[in-house]
Amino acid sequence: MGEIPATAAERARRAESLRQEIARANHAYYQLDNPTMADAEYDALLRELLDLEAADPDLVMPDSPTQRVGAPLAANFAARRHPRPMLSLANARNIDELRAWEKRARALLPNATFTYVCELKIDGLAMALTYENGALLIAATRGDGVEGEDVTANVRTVRDVPERLHDTRPEGGKSVTSPVPLPTRVEVRGEIYMPIASFEAVNNEISAAADPARGVAPHLFANPRNSAAGSLRQKDPRITRSRNLHFFGYQIGYVEGGPDPASQVEALEWISAWGFVVNPNWRVFTEWDEVERFCLEWQARRFELPYEIDGCVVKIADHHQQEELGVVARDPRWAIAFKFPPVQATTTLRDIRVTVGRTGSLNPTAQLDPVVIGGVIVKQASLHNEEDIQRKDLRLGDRVIVQRAGDVIPQVVKPILEARALDANGVPLAPPYTMPTTCPACGAPIRKDPDEAMAYCSNPVEACPGQMLEWLRHFVSRGALDISGVGDELCAELLAAGLIRDPADLYDLTAADLAQREGFKERRIANVLTSIAQSKAQPLPRLIFALGIRHVGEKVAYLVANTFGTMDAILAADATAIGAIPGVGPIIGESLSSWLAEPAHRALIERLRAAGLRMTADTPAEATIEGPLAGQSFLLTGRLETMTRGQAEEAIHRLGGTVASNVTKTLTHLIVGADPGSKLARAQKLNIPIHDEQWLLALLDGGNDQTADDV
Ligand code: NAD
Repeated sequence: MGEIPATAAERARRAESLRQEIARANHAYYQLDNPTMADAEYDALLRELLDLEAADPDLVMPDSPTQRVGAPLAANFAARRHPRPMLSLANARNIDELRAWEKRARALLPNATFTYVCELKIDGLAMALTYENGALLIAATRGDGVEGEDVTANVRTVRDVPERLHDTRPEGGKSVTSPVPLPTRVEVRGEIYMPIASFEAVNNEISAAADPARGVAPHLFANPRNSAAGSLRQKDPRITRSRNLHFFGYQIGYVEGGPDPASQVEALEWISAWGFVVNPNWRVFTEWDEVERFCLEWQARRFELPYEIDGCVVKIADHHQQEELGVVARDPRWAIAFKFPPVQATTTLRDIRVTVGRTGSLNPTAQLDPVVIGGVIVKQASLHNEEDIQRKDLRLGDRVIVQRAGDVIPQVVKPILEARALDANGVPLAPPYTMPTTCPACGAPIRKDPDEAMAYCSNPVEACPGQMLEWLRHFVSRGALDISGVGDELCAELLAAGLIRDPADLYDLTAADLAQREGFKERRIANVLTSIAQSKAQPLPRLIFALGIRHVGEKVAYLVANTFGTMDAILAADATAIGAIPGVGPIIGESLSSWLAEPAHRALIERLRAAGLRMTADTPAEATIEGPLAGQSFLLTGRLETMTRGQAEEAIHRLGGTVASNVTKTLTHLIVGADPGSKLARAQKLNIPIHDEQWLLALLDGGNDQTADDV
């Protein structure tokens, strides 16, 4: 955000330039459903204009975007005048701004006692639905706030929007008159939204239909909100119908021929009784602290939901108080949006770096101009595979929208095609991206199975230094053999110096070998050698996981080790026997058994055996049944701080507990780490006991003499 210029002329110039830039962004966003910048950047421009206008009230124009909502209407739909204007919401970007809003409201109504309704801010598009004698008459978008677009035909295809409002409700098998009055005419407002999974499906469809090589670029939607708006504002309602749109009702715009609701609480109850879906997560509070807690709780839980929310809306519930507080510019004074940190930003795609993984897969990573998203600097983003890059038609030099949601690795959502550099014929200057045809680490040709998206280095791991380095890093990692003295850098150094050629060589390392390395004094050498020696005692499942076999994660390694009991039994098993283990399956069975069949791999295992690593599962399945956690099932969600998920699961298994993969009624404990997933909400619904990591640690430390219920 810029500094406020010192002179009036400069301020006027800057305000005008901001107004134009915002108007262009509004057009792209509201009329084309195709933003040319991320919301956070747009918000920063609007804030700057607001700050300028606050410093210099002469700059406030009636047509300033700070005074109006949305954008002029597109020509595709008939205009509908809103009987009551549809406003926007003032934003609070943090708790201090939220408190300042409450303070202002309190100052305006000093003798009032407030009740607050807190709701989720659904990231969709506002809709006004007018019903006459209970039948849907008009559905209009917010438009410019004064007039909206008549999208009735399209809205009729949205299943959550009732054609007729209920004036009766089922009760005890009979239909009884609803306790809620049904007015002659009523306008219900709410949000049309698209679930995240449907948004992804729509983008997949769009990219499948595109053909960038022939100049048909995939015009992807940037987020579920744009996708919902684009899908709703179609000329053909059949397209809208195919797009899985939903609706949450949250406000009564006006009532004729019936009573007005006295408060937001009543409004939500009536809307629900009439047959709309009201988002179930609304709460009523009388204490301000609870309002803040609600907002912060949902900020932490936002990614649990199958649809996007970009904040919480806090509303002063009483309608008389709402009227007294009134409206300022385009925002009611009785409500505020507590906005969560943004998840998207735009930046430039500078390069695509391809590295080789431990199983030989080629992994492209976007190299970006650094950009801050929600307080974190993002310089790289995942691109999955070549198909993903082509599907999105990403080209070097593109402006791109990058998303970082929770602890998910940042992703490149789409290029901003409108910002792409073109030649005189309108052809993009940068060609479509193609992956290297040889391995960037060893130069071997790339192998690609026709039915797999990933490309692979055709060399075996022993012949590809890139794969070997990743394997070694995996082998020593926390969830595998946990050799803490050997970090990423030392792995690279040991391989480069030829001191080791594969993970088994670690166990032949001597103090003399390490002493030759720069920076290796006695203490460090002892550290490295001790942690290597200690790793020999790691249980068999970890060793199997450390082998870095495709598809063999911590859970599969655990299942295989504890089913067969010994490495020798595993070596003797065939793919069918391994695949028959519940939770393993034929693909993994085949992958594991063909890896083990390689003579080089057998030799490696024998060297590990000779070095003294454990080749027997110490807690075969039968024995664990007797453990102190027998009969108890655990499920983990979110990131643990003190151990990996695999380590936690292993410890639970060791004490006789089972690890579930889903929340079901029979689950006995849900363990919640940082940034938990949707399992938390499901467990809460089913009243499953929920615990944090400290609880689990205490339980596991308690070891053999207590059960979960004792803690
Ligand atoms: P807003 O989205 O910040 O807040 C107001 C809207 O919240 C309401 O109109 C309503 O649709 C919605 N809402 C969701 N749940 C609600 C609830 N429970 N109760 C009440 N309202 C609820 O404001 P806005 O004026 O609609 O638009 C501004 C937003 O659009 C900003 O996020 C801005 O970044 C984005 N935008 C982006 C661009 C761009 O170029 N990227 C351009 C224009 C606007």
